[in-house]
Order: sequence, then structure tokens, then C-alpha cells
Amino acid sequence: MKGYESSTEKKVYQSSKATITTPEELAEHLDVDLEEIKQVHNTFPLRINHYYLSLIKEKGDPIWRQVIPAREELHSTGLEDPLGEEHDSPIPNITHRYPDRVLFYVSYVCAVYCRFCTRKRKVSKPQSLPPDGIQRGLEYIREHTEIRDVIVSGGDPLMLTDGKIDAILRELRAIEHVEIIRIGSRVPVTFPQRITQNLCDTLKKYHPLFLNTHFNHPSEITPESTRACGMLADAGIPLGNQTVLLKGVNDRMETMKRLMQKLLAIRVKPYYIYQADLVAGTDHFRTSVQHGLDIMAALRGHTSGLAVPHYVIDGPGGVGKIAIIPNPVVSFDDKEIVLKNYEGFACSYPSTCQQALVDEVR
Ligand SMILES: *Cc1c(COP(=O)(O)O)cnc(C)c1O
Ligand code: SF4
Repeated sequence: MKGYESSTEKKVYQSSKATITTPEELAEHLDVDLEEIKQVHNTFPLRINHYYLSLIKEKGDPIWRQVIPAREELHSTGLEDPLGEEHDSPIPNITHRYPDRVLFYVSYVCAVYCRFCTRKRKVSKPQSLPPDGIQRGLEYIREHTEIRDVIVSGGDPLMLTDGKIDAILRELRAIEHVEIIRIGSRVPVTFPQRITQNLCDTLKKYHPLFLNTHFNHPSEITPESTRACGMLADAGIPLGNQTVLLKGVNDRMETMKRLMQKLLAIRVKPYYIYQADLVAGTDHFRTSVQHGLDIMAALRGHTSGLAVPHYVIDGPGGVGKIAIIPNPVVSFDDKEIVLKNYEGFACSYPSTCQQALVDEVR
């Protein structure tokens, strides 16, 4: 693909040069155990930029846990590819699991590398994106007329240059059966300076375009990320958020509720809370499913319905996302359904329409 040199390219490159990628560089900035970091960073590389680093307030806090390699990563029961994405990949850079939509892997780089990443097996690895990977992906989407929704993902697609993003979106938009385009990017959270007016002007040419980002903790909502989300929203892009439920990061009910509320205040609609996938090296992040349900119960009714996302388990082996909710049903038969409200009060509702009963009697 041609034409992706731009001034943003230089800026992005410069800021990536300022990115911390070695244990020694990290030790210059934080009080870490160098030997521990050296061991762990062989299994999944270290990458933190100065902006995200600046959000760390103390050792082991929720920002720290997301990006600083930890010894626990070495003891693990998880899987390389817990969602069986490779099994659903007809070609290397497309995952086609659902009937009408695909995940399109266009970048192997992210602004920071999250220790809990589900796609560790690919992210950070240049070989995960062959030189013809994007062209082949576009061809696949062109040939499959049932695809009406393309999720441009990675890695982080917004780590590409504006020109390259423009080229990919232009080609996708030219495909008649592609109704909507979605971008999955953590850049508004981890590298909000990347959201420039030029990038917004590029993206808004390709509506209907949606963007799902990935905030995990209220302290990621800063003046910088607020500004980034505001610019994207002003470009007419509906913003959603996918949070991963992570022990020691956002597993306190109050933290999760505050995060959901603050997201709305920066114009981002909470979309999913994921139960942590069974990824290798992430056992220490996993909470129980019951705890996830308790968090959902602490949201529904207690705060704006807009702040309540779907809680999903992305089923192992590629069955897809399955939403679960705290069960509000006390009893249910042909006559009545007994329900519990958010405060635990029960109510009864006739389970068959009254008018229908009258009609049946006649
Ligand atoms: C999550 C995901 C999607 C999108 O799912 P939605 O529920 O429509 O947001 C599509 N394909 C794959 C492979 C996914 O993992
Ligand atoms: S930004 Fe997303 S893809 Fe990149 S390392 Fe973090 S979780 Fe993985």
C-alpha cells in the first residue's frame, strides 16, 4: 500500500523511540526487580510509553499491574490461543467466527503491551503480519459478500500512520457489502496524543465508523484521554468501551462503577466487561465468574442504565462471546413471573398477556 508517509509518521516514530522497551530502561524509572523483569520479558515483551508510565502512582497499583512484567506470568495454566482464533482464520489476518462480521488484524504493535493481552501470541511479533497480509485480508472481505461489519484490529490499528489507516479504510469503504467499519484501539487510553485532528479528519471520511476502546481503570481518565475521546466523538464516531475484569485492577465494585460512570462523562458508552480469557501467564488477573456477576448486580439499577455494559465470557475454543447476567427470576410459569429488583424486592408480573387470555376464553 502506498502513500503513508506523513508528518504524523515522524511524530509517532519519535514518540515510540521514547518508549521503554528494555528491563534496564524500566529500572531507570521505577523501583523494579531487574532480574524478575529480565526473566519475564522473554515471554512477552515489555513496552510502556512515558505518558502511561506517568499514570503510575505507586508500586503495584492498577496501572502498574497492567503493564509491568510480573513473576506470576511464569506460572500458568492458560493457553496460547484461548479463543481458538487461529482455528477460525481462513487466512492469517482474518478471524471469521460469526456469520456477518470479521476481525481484521492490521497491526502487530500497540502503544503499550498489556500483560493480560489475549493476543500475546501475535502482538509484538512482526511475523504475525505478513507483507501481503492486509491485501489478502481485503481480498477475502471483498469475496465474502456476507460480511457486513469489519472490525479493524490488531495490535493497535491506530499505531499505523494516518496515510496507511486512510488507505485501509478507503479500500474497505469501497466494498459495497461492508455496511459498518469498527476500529478496536487502546490508543485513546494509552497514547491519547496520537489522536490528532488529522487522524480524526481521516477517520470521519469513512462513516458509519465506530470505535471501541479499552479503559480498565478510572485513573486512565485524564485530561489527555478526555480530550482524545472528545475529538473522536466530535468527528461523529460513536465510542464504546471494552473492559477486562482484572484482579487488583478493577475488581472492586466501587472502582468498576466509577469507571463506567466516568466513561459516559467523556462520551464513551460501556459496551462489554470481559471475564478474563484463559490466556497463558495471566492466572493472577483472573477473578471468579460469581464475582463478575456480583459486579454486574452492583451496576444495574444502582446507576444509569447507559453505564451498564454486557458482561461476557468469550467461550474457550472459539464459540464466541456469551453474555451472562445476575438472575433476577425467582419463579416463572404460564401465569406469572416473579422478579427481584436491584434492591432485592420481589414483584409479580402476569407472564401471559391479559388480552390474550381474554381472547382465548372466547
Ligand atoms: C468480539 C468479536 C467480534 C465482534 O463481536 P460483537 O459481539 O459483534 O462485538 C467479531 N469477531 C470476533 C472473532 C470477535 O472476537
Ligand atoms: S492494547 Fe490490546 S492488543 Fe495491545 S497489548 Fe493491550 S490488550 Fe493486547
